[in-house]
Amino acid sequence: MKVEIISIGTELTSGQNLDTNCQWLSRRLAEIGLPVSFHTTVADDLADNIACFKIATARAELVISTGGLGPTQDDLTREVIATVAGVDLVEHTPSLEHIKEMFAKRRRPMPERNHVQALLPAGAEAIFNVCGTAPGIWAKVGVATVIAMPGVPSEMYRMFAEQVQPRLLAMGLDGGVFIQRKINTFGTGESMVEAKLLDLTRRGNVPEVGITVSDAVISLRILAHATNLEAAQAQIGPVEMIIRERLAELVFGVEEEELQDVVVRLMHEKQQTLATAESITGGLVAHRICQVPGASDYFHGGVVSYTNEVKARELGVPRELLERFGAVSEPVARAMAEGIRAKFGTDLGVSTTGFAGPSGGTEENPVGTAYVGLAHSGGCEVTRWGWLGTRLEIMSRTAKLALNMVRLKLQG
Ligand code: AMP
Ligand code: MG
Repeated sequence: MKVEIISIGTELTSGQNLDTNCQWLSRRLAEIGLPVSFHTTVADDLADNIACFKIATARAELVISTGGLGPTQDDLTREVIATVAGVDLVEHTPSLEHIKEMFAKRRRPMPERNHVQALLPAGAEAIFNVCGTAPGIWAKVGVATVIAMPGVPSEMYRMFAEQVQPRLLAMGLDGGVFIQRKINTFGTGESMVEAKLLDLTRRGNVPEVGITVSDAVISLRILAHATNLEAAQAQIGPVEMIIRERLAELVFGVEEEELQDVVVRLMHEKQQTLATAESITGGLVAHRICQVPGASDYFHGGVVSYTNEVKARELGVPRELLERFGAVSEPVARAMAEGIRAKFGTDLGVSTTGFAGPSGGTEENPVGTAYVGLAHSGGCEVTRWGWLGTRLEIMSRTAKLALNMVRLKLQG
């Protein structure tokens, strides 16, 4: 069974908007055993849409589209499906009643243009739209089932979950179950991670294990395919254990968990407080921690100490250190971390200093060099790291390095 998704809209092909419907739908379909083979994106153009649907209905048994069901002239999906199926568009009375009702509820007159939203290709069924005016379309074109849904993500999510998915399952599409588990790591490079897992990441391994890297976080994705959920979960469990054993403290979380989520959770578990002294990251470490609900119980605050003057005055970094070693140095990172810990009276103090570029840097400490200090009751450690990347990437990754040092300390 081949499955194709067609995303319709000039705002997508022009690059103005990102096609998130396709990603969301692909995941939902895989979960019910319908892995997607083709993603097609097409602009709001009649001939191009007709061509797309012709190709899709010839090569896939299930074609799911989103977009182009609005009331305006660039919304062509109804007309396209009717043309490809070789039928006329006919008015669907219950849909027209629903559209009228939606306007009446909002005490607005129904514009003439919205009439078109009640048109359906002859022989097709309407898919009721709880949260919008445009019904979806369920049609048969040759042997292919064609399902057209609205482009507005919230409307599409609900229509798929409440009406399309149950119906697909009822049709007995038993491709089995696909599930995935994402394990997130920080602290080393992609090839270093893979070197520890070569037996798992080789092609054809069951379950499949893939590696992706995003902003210095390396994630392992375990993809299991089995006849039912229990069997798929049974494939994932042992592999996750091997990965955790081999990568040990490099693993910080799973799924969408980020370093700051783990840091706040650990601060709560260990009842530890934290303050930040940031130079290169300009407040990013504090910002990320504050994104996590409940951070205020453990995160006291921070100082963005960008100039040497502020480092000396607010954090008590000895001026002699700044002159002798420069602001981007191990001794200054240490003094900043100890300074903020003393000033704010927290259990932990973390500091960042470095060269984000694009210009600046020295022979010894080129652009991309960062020092992160972590002061605690037992002393202070400083880590030096060299990043490649743009200014924003270097800042973001240094913030992660700082959060990761706090995490490792809290984990003991
Ligand atoms: P349409 O049903 O084509 O009128 O689309 C309505 C709105 O939904 C568009 O203006 C977009 O903001 C949004 N939209 C349409 N298609 C997508 C998509 N594939 N991914 C994310 N948003 C979309
Ligand atoms: Mg559109």
